[in-house]
Amino acid sequence: MACIFCNIVRGEVPATVVYKDDLVTAFRDINPKAPVHVLIVPNEHIASVRELRAEHGPMLARMFEVASRVAAQDNVAESGFRLVINNGPHAGQSVDHLHLHLLGGRPMAWPPG
Ligand code: 5GP
Ligand code: ZN
Repeated sequence: MACIFCNIVRGEVPATVVYKDDLVTAFRDINPKAPVHVLIVPNEHIASVRELRAEHGPMLARMFEVASRVAAQDNVAESGFRLVINNGPHAGQSVDHLHLHLLGGRPMAWPPG
């Protein structure tokens, strides 16, 4: 099964990777919706939140740690940032590999449209 984010994790598709370790990879969104828009993904293919199990706990903690670190690096820690995970059609999930959006650098509406 071809998965664009698996290919980015493996380095087979180019992306602006801002962080990578044994559990997660973070890279800039190709079509940014805010001045800072980074995607944090598990290196392992997990389709969505619906597939998460207790054993994914360390990886999930890492995703949030990395989001916080990248927010600081990109200077939006103080101004504020939003973390979003879209799941399924109504939420507009378009890539079936779990990803945490880090959005910042401008004020954002709530609730989202
Ligand atoms: P979703 O809509 O599934 O929550 O988010 C998918 C995100 O992945 C979108 O914001 C889209 O711009 C981004 N995206 C899709 N394909 C690529 C790609 O090939 N490279 C990068 N860097 N981002 C991608
Ligand atoms: Zn994948």
